Amino acid sequence: MLKEECGIMGVLGAKEASNLVYLGLYALQHRGQEACGIVSLNRDEKSLKYYDHKGFGLVSDVINRSAIDSLKGDLALGHVRYSTQGGKLLQNTQPFVFKTPAHGPIGIAHNGNLTNANDIKADLEKKGSIFTTTSDSEVFIHLLARSQKQSLEEKIKDMMGIVRGAYSLVLIAENKMYAIRDRHGFRPLVIGKKDESWVVASESCALDLIDACFVRDVEPGEVVCFKRGEISSFFAKKKLEKRSFCSFEPIYFSRPDSLVDNQSVYQLRRKMGEILAQESHVDADIVFAIPDSGVPVAIGYAEQSKLPMELALVRNHYVGRTFIEPTQQIRDFGVKLKLNPVSHLIKDKRVIIIDDSLVRGTTSIKIMRMIRQAGAKEIHFRLGCPPITHSCYYGVATPKRKNLLAAQKNTHEIKRILEADSLAFLSQEGLQQALSDVKKQSFCYACFNGSYEEPIFTQISKEATDPYGPGVFAC
Ligand code: AMP
Repeated sequence: MLKEECGIMGVLGAKEASNLVYLGLYALQHRGQEACGIVSLNRDEKSLKYYDHKGFGLVSDVINRSAIDSLKGDLALGHVRYSTQGGKLLQNTQPFVFKTPAHGPIGIAHNGNLTNANDIKADLEKKGSIFTTTSDSEVFIHLLARSQKQSLEEKIKDMMGIVRGAYSLVLIAENKMYAIRDRHGFRPLVIGKKDESWVVASESCALDLIDACFVRDVEPGEVVCFKRGEISSFFAKKKLEKRSFCSFEPIYFSRPDSLVDNQSVYQLRRKMGEILAQESHVDADIVFAIPDSGVPVAIGYAEQSKLPMELALVRNHYVGRTFIEPTQQIRDFGVKLKLNPVSHLIKDKRVIIIDDSLVRGTTSIKIMRMIRQAGAKEIHFRLGCPPITHSCYYGVATPKRKNLLAAQKNTHEIKRILEADSLAFLSQEGLQQALSDVKKQSFCYACFNGSYEEPIFTQISKEATDPYGPGVFAC
Protein backbone atom coordinates (compact mmCIF):
# COMPACT_ATOMS: atom_id res chain seq x y z
CA MET A 1 0.00 0.00 0.00
CA LEU A 2 1.28 3.43 -0.78
CA LYS A 3 2.10 6.13 1.73
CA GLU A 4 0.12 9.33 1.53
CA GLU A 5 0.06 12.77 3.03
CA CYS A 6 -3.36 14.37 2.92
CA GLY A 7 -5.76 17.09 3.96
CA ILE A 8 -9.51 16.70 4.35
CA MET A 9 -12.47 19.03 4.71
CA GLY A 10 -16.23 18.46 5.03
CA VAL A 11 -19.20 20.84 5.25
CA LEU A 12 -22.76 19.99 6.22
CA GLY A 13 -25.77 22.26 6.02
CA ALA A 14 -24.50 25.13 3.87
CA LYS A 15 -26.14 26.18 0.64
CA GLU A 16 -22.76 26.45 -1.03
CA ALA A 17 -21.15 23.45 0.68
CA SER A 18 -18.90 22.50 -2.25
CA ASN A 19 -17.75 26.09 -2.66
CA LEU A 20 -16.76 26.26 1.01
CA VAL A 21 -14.93 22.95 0.72
CA TYR A 22 -13.15 24.22 -2.37
CA LEU A 23 -11.95 27.30 -0.45
CA GLY A 24 -10.94 25.20 2.55
CA LEU A 25 -8.86 22.92 0.34
CA TYR A 26 -6.78 25.95 -0.67
CA ALA A 27 -5.85 26.37 3.00
CA LEU A 28 -4.92 22.68 3.17
CA GLN A 29 -2.95 22.59 -0.07
CA HIS A 30 0.37 22.25 1.79
CA ARG A 31 -0.84 18.80 2.97
CA GLY A 32 -0.93 17.42 -0.57
CA GLN A 33 -0.26 18.80 -4.01
CA GLU A 34 -0.55 15.81 -6.29
CA ALA A 35 -4.30 15.38 -6.63
CA CYS A 36 -7.54 16.63 -5.15
CA GLY A 37 -11.27 16.17 -5.34
CA ILE A 38 -14.69 17.05 -3.98
CA VAL A 39 -17.79 14.88 -3.57
CA SER A 40 -21.22 16.28 -2.72
CA LEU A 41 -24.57 14.78 -1.81
CA ASN A 42 -27.89 16.27 -2.83
CA ARG A 43 -31.40 15.08 -2.07
CA ASP A 44 -33.90 15.78 -4.82
CA GLU A 45 -37.60 14.79 -4.75
CA LYS A 46 -36.81 11.15 -5.40
CA SER A 47 -33.40 10.17 -4.11
CA LEU A 48 -30.04 11.12 -2.68
CA LYS A 49 -27.61 11.71 -5.53
CA TYR A 50 -23.88 12.17 -5.46
CA TYR A 51 -21.68 14.39 -7.60
CA ASP A 52 -17.92 14.28 -7.79
CA HIS A 53 -15.02 16.02 -9.41
CA LYS A 54 -11.39 14.91 -9.08
CA GLY A 55 -8.10 15.27 -10.86
CA PHE A 56 -4.34 15.52 -10.69
CA GLY A 57 -2.83 18.81 -9.66
CA LEU A 58 -3.38 21.70 -7.31
CA VAL A 59 -6.85 22.83 -6.22
CA SER A 60 -6.55 25.79 -8.59
CA ASP A 61 -5.76 23.44 -11.52
CA VAL A 62 -8.45 20.86 -10.87
CA ILE A 63 -11.49 22.71 -9.58
CA ASN A 64 -13.13 25.55 -11.47
CA ARG A 65 -16.45 27.42 -11.43
CA SER A 66 -18.31 24.91 -13.56
CA ALA A 67 -17.08 22.03 -11.39
CA ILE A 68 -18.33 23.75 -8.27
CA ASP A 69 -21.69 24.49 -9.90
CA SER A 70 -22.01 20.81 -10.76
CA LEU A 71 -21.29 19.72 -7.16
CA LYS A 72 -24.82 20.23 -5.89
CA GLY A 73 -26.14 19.86 -2.39
CA ASP A 74 -25.53 21.19 1.10
CA LEU A 75 -23.22 18.33 2.10
CA ALA A 76 -19.74 18.17 0.58
CA LEU A 77 -16.39 16.56 1.25
CA GLY A 78 -12.94 17.37 -0.17
CA HIS A 79 -9.45 15.90 -0.15
CA VAL A 80 -5.95 16.96 -1.16
CA ARG A 81 -3.32 14.29 -1.48
CA TYR A 82 0.34 13.67 -2.01
CA SER A 83 1.15 10.05 -2.57
CA THR A 84 4.54 8.53 -2.88
CA GLN A 85 5.93 6.74 -5.89
CA GLY A 86 3.75 3.99 -7.26
CA GLY A 87 0.53 5.58 -6.14
CA LYS A 88 -0.04 8.12 -8.86
CA LEU A 89 -3.26 6.69 -10.21
CA LEU A 90 -6.47 8.63 -10.76
CA GLN A 91 -8.48 5.89 -9.07
CA ASN A 92 -6.49 6.54 -5.87
CA THR A 93 -7.70 10.13 -5.80
CA GLN A 94 -10.11 10.82 -2.97
CA PRO A 95 -12.76 11.34 -1.75
CA PHE A 96 -13.92 7.85 -2.63
CA VAL A 97 -17.61 7.47 -3.24
CA PHE A 98 -19.52 4.21 -3.36
CA LYS A 99 -23.14 3.22 -3.55
CA THR A 100 -24.65 0.95 -0.94
CA PRO A 101 -28.07 -0.69 -1.02
CA ALA A 102 -28.65 0.14 2.64
CA HIS A 103 -27.40 3.72 2.88
CA GLY A 104 -27.20 5.07 -0.65
CA PRO A 105 -24.02 6.85 -1.74
CA ILE A 106 -21.27 7.21 0.85
CA GLY A 107 -18.33 9.58 0.40
CA ILE A 108 -15.15 9.01 2.35
CA ALA A 109 -11.87 10.94 2.75
CA HIS A 110 -8.91 9.69 4.77
CA ASN A 111 -5.74 11.23 6.18
CA GLY A 112 -3.24 8.75 7.64
CA ASN A 113 -1.88 5.30 6.98
CA LEU A 114 -3.32 2.01 8.15
CA THR A 115 -0.70 -0.38 9.48
CA ASN A 116 -2.70 -3.55 8.79
CA ALA A 117 -4.19 -2.57 5.43
CA ASN A 118 -2.33 -5.25 3.46
CA ASP A 119 -3.48 -7.98 5.81
CA ILE A 120 -7.09 -6.80 5.71
CA LYS A 121 -6.95 -6.52 1.95
CA ALA A 122 -5.52 -10.03 1.53
CA ASP A 123 -8.19 -11.43 3.81
CA LEU A 124 -11.02 -9.62 2.03
CA GLU A 125 -9.74 -10.64 -1.38
CA LYS A 126 -9.84 -14.26 -0.25
CA LYS A 127 -13.49 -13.67 0.63
CA GLY A 128 -14.25 -12.24 -2.79
CA SER A 129 -13.71 -8.49 -2.48
CA ILE A 130 -12.33 -6.78 -5.55
CA PHE A 131 -10.14 -3.76 -4.86
CA THR A 132 -9.99 -1.02 -7.47
CA THR A 133 -7.23 1.15 -5.98
CA THR A 134 -3.82 0.71 -4.37
CA SER A 135 -4.81 3.01 -1.52
CA ASP A 136 -5.11 1.67 2.02
CA SER A 137 -8.19 3.91 2.40
CA GLU A 138 -10.22 1.52 0.26
CA VAL A 139 -10.33 -1.03 3.07
CA PHE A 140 -12.68 1.28 5.01
CA ILE A 141 -15.22 0.96 2.22
CA HIS A 142 -15.05 -2.81 2.04
CA LEU A 143 -15.32 -3.17 5.79
CA LEU A 144 -18.36 -0.89 5.94
CA ALA A 145 -19.99 -2.72 3.06
CA ARG A 146 -19.42 -6.12 4.66
CA SER A 147 -20.58 -5.30 8.17
CA GLN A 148 -23.77 -7.17 9.06
CA LYS A 149 -24.96 -4.38 11.38
CA GLN A 150 -28.00 -2.28 10.57
CA SER A 151 -27.03 1.32 11.23
CA LEU A 152 -24.11 3.16 9.74
CA GLU A 153 -22.92 4.06 13.26
CA GLU A 154 -22.68 0.37 14.17
CA LYS A 155 -20.92 -0.41 10.91
CA ILE A 156 -18.38 2.32 11.64
CA LYS A 157 -17.83 0.78 15.06
CA ASP A 158 -17.23 -2.63 13.47
CA MET A 159 -14.82 -1.09 10.99
CA MET A 160 -12.88 0.66 13.76
CA GLY A 161 -12.54 -2.65 15.55
CA ILE A 162 -10.60 -4.05 12.59
CA VAL A 163 -8.41 -1.27 11.18
CA ARG A 164 -5.17 -0.37 12.95
CA GLY A 165 -2.91 2.61 12.49
CA ALA A 166 -3.49 6.25 11.71
CA TYR A 167 -6.75 7.59 10.41
CA SER A 168 -8.57 10.86 10.53
CA LEU A 169 -11.62 10.21 8.45
CA VAL A 170 -14.62 12.16 7.22
CA LEU A 171 -17.59 10.30 5.86
CA ILE A 172 -20.77 11.71 4.30
CA ALA A 173 -23.96 9.71 3.88
CA GLU A 174 -27.70 9.91 4.43
CA ASN A 175 -27.68 13.68 5.00
CA LYS A 176 -25.14 13.20 7.78
CA MET A 177 -21.44 13.81 8.19
CA TYR A 178 -19.16 11.72 10.41
CA ALA A 179 -15.75 12.81 11.71
CA ILE A 180 -13.66 9.90 12.95
CA ARG A 181 -10.21 9.75 14.52
CA ASP A 182 -8.14 6.68 15.42
CA ARG A 183 -7.72 6.08 19.12
CA HIS A 184 -4.12 7.27 19.24
CA GLY A 185 -5.10 10.53 17.54
CA PHE A 186 -2.08 10.43 15.21
CA ARG A 187 -3.41 12.88 12.63
CA PRO A 188 -5.35 16.07 13.31
CA LEU A 189 -9.06 16.71 12.78
CA VAL A 190 -10.92 19.79 13.98
CA ILE A 191 -14.57 20.76 14.22
CA GLY A 192 -15.84 24.20 13.26
CA LYS A 193 -19.14 25.98 12.91
CA LYS A 194 -20.21 28.53 10.35
CA ASP A 195 -23.65 29.96 11.07
CA GLU A 196 -25.91 26.90 10.98
CA SER A 197 -23.46 24.62 9.18
CA TRP A 198 -20.87 22.22 10.57
CA VAL A 199 -17.34 22.07 9.23
CA VAL A 200 -14.65 19.43 9.75
CA ALA A 201 -11.08 19.95 8.58
CA SER A 202 -7.55 18.64 9.00
CA GLU A 203 -6.38 22.00 10.28
CA SER A 204 -7.96 25.07 11.79
CA CYS A 205 -6.48 27.35 9.08
CA ALA A 206 -9.16 25.93 6.75
CA LEU A 207 -11.86 27.10 9.20
CA ASP A 208 -10.32 30.57 9.33
CA LEU A 209 -10.46 30.93 5.57
CA ILE A 210 -14.21 30.43 5.43
CA ASP A 211 -14.93 32.41 8.61
CA ALA A 212 -15.98 29.32 10.55
CA CYS A 213 -15.25 29.36 14.25
CA PHE A 214 -13.13 26.66 15.85
CA VAL A 215 -15.24 24.47 18.14
CA ARG A 216 -12.84 21.71 19.23
CA ASP A 217 -10.65 18.82 18.10
CA VAL A 218 -12.24 15.47 17.36
CA GLU A 219 -10.98 13.36 20.27
CA PRO A 220 -8.77 10.32 19.65
CA GLY A 221 -11.08 7.31 19.15
CA GLU A 222 -14.15 9.51 18.77
CA VAL A 223 -16.85 9.31 16.12
CA VAL A 224 -18.73 12.59 15.82
CA CYS A 225 -21.99 12.50 13.93
CA PHE A 226 -23.36 15.76 12.52
CA LYS A 227 -26.96 16.07 11.46
CA ARG A 228 -28.59 19.33 10.59
CA GLY A 229 -28.70 21.26 13.85
CA GLU A 230 -27.48 18.32 15.93
CA ILE A 231 -24.18 16.84 16.96
CA SER A 232 -23.63 13.58 18.83
CA SER A 233 -20.63 11.41 19.47
CA PHE A 234 -19.46 8.04 20.70
CA PHE A 235 -16.22 6.14 21.25
CA ALA A 236 -15.82 2.86 19.40
CA LYS A 237 -13.47 1.41 22.02
CA LYS A 238 -12.25 2.24 25.50
CA LYS A 239 -10.23 5.45 25.45
CA LEU A 240 -6.45 5.08 25.71
CA GLU A 241 -4.64 6.80 28.57
CA LYS A 242 -1.92 8.01 26.28
CA ARG A 243 -2.44 10.06 23.12
CA SER A 244 0.02 9.95 20.22
CA PHE A 245 -0.52 13.06 18.18
CA CYS A 246 2.17 13.29 15.49
CA SER A 247 4.95 15.59 16.72
CA PHE A 248 5.95 16.17 13.09
CA GLU A 249 2.67 18.08 12.56
CA PRO A 250 3.81 21.04 14.68
CA ILE A 251 7.44 20.62 13.55
CA TYR A 252 6.89 20.63 9.80
CA PHE A 253 3.60 19.53 8.39
CA SER A 254 0.92 21.85 9.77
CA ARG A 255 0.65 25.49 8.84
CA PRO A 256 1.95 27.94 11.48
CA ASP A 257 -1.42 29.71 11.58
CA SER A 258 -3.15 26.47 12.63
CA LEU A 259 -3.89 25.14 16.07
CA VAL A 260 -2.80 21.57 16.68
CA ASP A 261 -4.20 19.86 19.74
CA ASN A 262 -5.44 23.33 20.68
CA GLN A 263 -1.94 24.84 20.62
CA SER A 264 -0.64 27.39 18.13
CA VAL A 265 1.80 25.80 15.68
CA TYR A 266 3.60 29.12 15.37
CA GLN A 267 4.14 29.35 19.12
CA LEU A 268 5.29 25.74 19.34
CA ARG A 269 7.87 26.25 16.58
CA ARG A 270 9.04 29.46 18.23
CA LYS A 271 9.48 27.62 21.49
CA MET A 272 11.49 24.91 19.70
CA GLY A 273 13.79 27.71 18.48
CA GLU A 274 14.16 29.20 21.95
CA ILE A 275 15.08 25.86 23.50
CA LEU A 276 17.39 25.06 20.60
CA ALA A 277 19.26 28.32 21.29
CA GLN A 278 19.56 27.46 24.98
CA GLU A 279 20.88 24.03 24.13
CA SER A 280 23.32 24.93 21.37
CA HIS A 281 24.40 28.54 21.63
CA VAL A 282 27.17 29.67 19.32
CA ASP A 283 28.66 33.11 18.69
CA ALA A 284 27.58 34.44 15.31
CA ASP A 285 26.59 37.61 13.43
CA ILE A 286 23.16 36.71 12.07
CA VAL A 287 20.44 34.08 12.26
CA PHE A 288 18.28 33.16 9.31
CA ALA A 289 15.80 30.47 8.38
CA ILE A 290 15.34 28.13 5.49
CA PRO A 291 11.83 29.25 4.59
CA ASP A 292 9.04 28.58 5.27
CA SER A 293 8.75 26.08 8.10
CA GLY A 294 12.08 27.11 9.64
CA VAL A 295 11.00 30.75 10.08
CA PRO A 296 9.20 30.63 13.46
CA VAL A 297 12.00 28.39 14.82
CA ALA A 298 14.58 30.99 13.72
CA ILE A 299 12.55 33.82 15.29
CA GLY A 300 12.59 31.96 18.62
CA TYR A 301 16.29 31.14 18.26
CA ALA A 302 17.27 34.72 17.40
CA GLU A 303 15.29 36.20 20.25
CA GLN A 304 16.70 33.78 22.79
CA SER A 305 20.28 34.24 21.60
CA LYS A 306 19.87 38.02 21.19
CA LEU A 307 21.18 37.90 17.65
CA PRO A 308 19.73 39.77 14.67
CA MET A 309 17.48 37.74 12.42
CA GLU A 310 17.53 38.42 8.67
CA LEU A 311 15.62 37.10 5.68
CA ALA A 312 18.82 35.99 4.01
CA LEU A 313 17.24 33.24 1.91
CA VAL A 314 14.43 34.25 -0.42
CA ARG A 315 11.92 31.66 -1.47
CA ASN A 316 10.24 31.61 -4.85
CA HIS A 317 6.62 30.88 -4.02
CA TYR A 318 5.68 29.93 -7.54
CA VAL A 319 7.60 26.66 -7.44
CA GLY A 320 5.69 23.66 -6.12
CA ARG A 321 7.13 20.93 -3.98
CA THR A 322 7.66 18.82 -7.02
CA PHE A 323 8.88 20.07 -10.32
CA ILE A 324 10.29 18.52 -13.45
CA GLU A 325 13.99 17.84 -13.18
CA PRO A 326 14.98 17.43 -16.82
CA THR A 327 18.60 16.36 -16.84
CA GLN A 328 21.31 15.54 -14.34
CA GLN A 329 23.32 18.50 -15.61
CA ILE A 330 20.76 21.05 -14.49
CA ARG A 331 19.31 19.05 -11.59
CA ASP A 332 21.39 20.99 -9.09
CA PHE A 333 19.56 24.13 -10.07
CA GLY A 334 16.56 22.59 -8.29
CA VAL A 335 17.26 24.19 -4.94
CA LYS A 336 18.09 27.51 -6.61
CA LEU A 337 14.73 27.42 -8.30
CA LYS A 338 13.20 27.57 -4.84
CA LEU A 339 15.74 29.49 -2.79
CA ASN A 340 18.25 32.25 -3.43
CA PRO A 341 20.55 33.91 -0.87
CA VAL A 342 20.72 37.65 -0.27
CA SER A 343 24.49 37.67 -0.64
CA HIS A 344 25.32 41.01 0.98
CA LEU A 345 23.70 39.82 4.23
CA ILE A 346 25.84 36.71 4.25
CA LYS A 347 29.23 37.77 2.87
CA ASP A 348 32.00 37.56 5.47
CA LYS A 349 29.49 36.81 8.23
CA ARG A 350 29.28 34.03 10.79
CA VAL A 351 25.78 32.73 10.11
CA ILE A 352 23.37 30.47 11.96
CA ILE A 353 21.00 28.72 9.56
CA ILE A 354 17.82 27.23 10.99
CA ASP A 355 15.68 24.54 9.41
CA ASP A 356 12.80 22.64 10.94
CA SER A 357 14.14 19.17 10.15
CA LEU A 358 16.79 17.13 8.39
CA VAL A 359 15.44 14.20 6.40
CA ARG A 360 17.72 12.89 3.67
CA GLY A 361 20.11 15.79 3.83
CA THR A 362 20.07 16.25 0.08
CA THR A 363 18.47 19.71 0.11
CA SER A 364 20.53 20.80 3.08
CA ILE A 365 23.81 19.91 1.35
CA LYS A 366 22.89 22.13 -1.59
CA ILE A 367 21.76 24.98 0.66
CA MET A 368 25.00 24.86 2.68
CA ARG A 369 27.03 25.08 -0.53
CA MET A 370 24.90 27.96 -1.74
CA ILE A 371 25.50 29.85 1.51
CA ARG A 372 29.23 29.13 1.39
CA GLN A 373 29.33 30.42 -2.22
CA ALA A 374 27.54 33.56 -1.03
CA GLY A 375 30.64 34.23 1.10
CA ALA A 376 29.69 33.08 4.61
CA LYS A 377 32.73 32.99 6.92
CA GLU A 378 31.25 30.37 9.27
CA ILE A 379 28.09 28.27 8.89
CA HIS A 380 26.35 26.92 11.98
CA PHE A 381 23.41 24.69 11.12
CA ARG A 382 20.64 24.24 13.68
CA LEU A 383 17.63 21.95 13.42
CA GLY A 384 14.32 22.53 15.17
CA CYS A 385 13.79 18.85 15.91
CA PRO A 386 15.90 15.84 16.95
CA PRO A 387 17.60 13.59 14.35
CA ILE A 388 14.99 11.66 12.34
CA THR A 389 16.18 8.09 12.67
CA HIS A 390 13.03 6.09 11.89
CA SER A 391 10.41 6.03 9.15
CA CYS A 392 6.85 7.10 9.76
CA TYR A 393 4.09 4.53 9.23
CA TYR A 394 1.33 6.84 10.39
CA GLY A 395 0.90 9.27 7.51
CA VAL A 396 4.06 11.30 6.95
CA ALA A 397 5.90 10.29 3.80
CA THR A 398 9.37 9.94 5.27
CA PRO A 399 11.79 7.79 3.29
CA LYS A 400 12.97 4.35 4.34
CA ARG A 401 15.60 4.25 7.07
CA LYS A 402 18.53 3.70 4.78
CA ASN A 403 17.79 7.07 3.21
CA LEU A 404 17.35 8.94 6.47
CA LEU A 405 20.69 10.65 6.95
CA ALA A 406 20.52 10.65 10.74
CA ALA A 407 19.69 6.93 10.77
CA GLN A 408 23.00 6.26 9.00
CA LYS A 409 25.39 8.88 10.34
CA ASN A 410 26.08 10.51 13.67
CA THR A 411 25.98 14.27 14.21
CA HIS A 412 29.71 14.66 13.69
CA GLU A 413 29.58 12.80 10.37
CA ILE A 414 26.54 14.78 9.22
CA LYS A 415 28.35 18.04 10.02
CA ARG A 416 31.20 16.88 7.79
CA ILE A 417 28.85 15.80 4.99
CA LEU A 418 27.05 19.14 5.09
CA GLU A 419 30.37 21.00 5.28
CA ALA A 420 29.06 23.01 8.22
CA ASP A 421 31.29 24.56 10.90
CA SER A 422 28.93 23.29 13.57
CA LEU A 423 25.70 21.32 13.68
CA ALA A 424 23.13 20.82 16.42
CA PHE A 425 19.69 19.27 16.66
CA LEU A 426 17.02 20.06 19.22
CA SER A 427 17.24 17.30 21.84
CA GLN A 428 14.33 14.89 22.40
CA GLU A 429 13.86 16.37 25.87
CA GLY A 430 13.93 19.86 24.36
CA LEU A 431 11.22 18.90 21.88
CA GLN A 432 9.06 17.44 24.63
CA GLN A 433 9.55 20.60 26.65
CA ALA A 434 8.56 22.79 23.68
CA LEU A 435 5.43 20.70 23.18
CA SER A 436 4.66 20.78 26.94
CA ASP A 437 4.84 16.99 26.86
CA VAL A 438 7.63 16.18 29.29
CA LYS A 439 5.87 12.96 30.33
CA LYS A 440 5.43 11.81 26.71
CA GLN A 441 1.68 11.38 27.15
CA SER A 442 0.46 13.46 24.22
CA PHE A 443 2.69 13.10 21.17
CA CYS A 444 4.13 10.37 18.94
CA TYR A 445 7.93 10.56 18.66
CA ALA A 446 8.42 7.36 16.65
CA CYS A 447 10.47 9.05 13.91
CA PHE A 448 12.97 10.18 16.57
CA ASN A 449 13.08 7.16 18.86
CA GLY A 450 11.58 4.21 16.95
CA SER A 451 8.95 3.72 19.62
CA TYR A 452 5.87 2.86 17.56
CA GLU A 453 2.67 2.99 19.60
CA GLU A 454 0.76 1.01 17.01
CA PRO A 455 2.37 -2.19 15.71
CA ILE A 456 3.34 -2.23 12.06
CA PHE A 457 1.51 -5.31 10.82
CA THR A 458 1.91 -4.46 7.21
CA GLN A 459 5.32 -4.77 5.61
CA ILE A 460 5.09 -1.51 3.69
CA SER A 461 7.27 -1.61 0.62
CA LYS A 462 9.46 1.37 1.38
CA GLU A 463 11.55 0.74 -1.72
CA ALA A 464 8.54 1.41 -3.90
CA THR A 465 7.24 4.27 -1.84
CA ASP A 466 10.25 6.43 -1.12
CA PRO A 467 8.88 9.92 -1.78
CA TYR A 468 12.28 11.29 -2.60
CA GLY A 469 13.03 8.64 -5.21
CA PRO A 470 16.30 6.76 -5.48
CA GLY A 471 19.37 8.66 -4.45
CA VAL A 472 22.61 8.55 -2.51
CA PHE A 473 24.16 10.78 0.07
CA ALA A 474 26.97 13.01 -1.01
CA CYS A 475 29.48 11.67 1.52
P1 AMP B 1 16.78 17.37 3.36
O1 AMP B 1 17.78 18.46 3.41
O2 AMP B 1 16.82 16.68 2.04
O3 AMP B 1 16.90 16.47 4.52
O4 AMP B 1 15.34 18.03 3.43
C1 AMP B 1 14.95 18.68 4.60
C2 AMP B 1 13.82 19.60 4.26
O5 AMP B 1 12.69 18.85 3.85
C3 AMP B 1 13.41 20.44 5.45
O6 AMP B 1 13.53 21.79 5.05
C4 AMP B 1 11.96 20.10 5.71
O7 AMP B 1 11.22 21.30 5.85
C5 AMP B 1 11.52 19.35 4.50
N1 AMP B 1 10.69 18.18 4.82
C6 AMP B 1 10.59 17.54 5.98
N2 AMP B 1 9.72 16.51 5.89
C7 AMP B 1 9.24 16.51 4.65
C8 AMP B 1 8.29 15.72 3.94
N3 AMP B 1 7.64 14.72 4.52
N4 AMP B 1 8.06 16.02 2.65
C9 AMP B 1 8.74 17.03 2.04
N5 AMP B 1 9.63 17.83 2.66
C10 AMP B 1 9.89 17.57 3.94
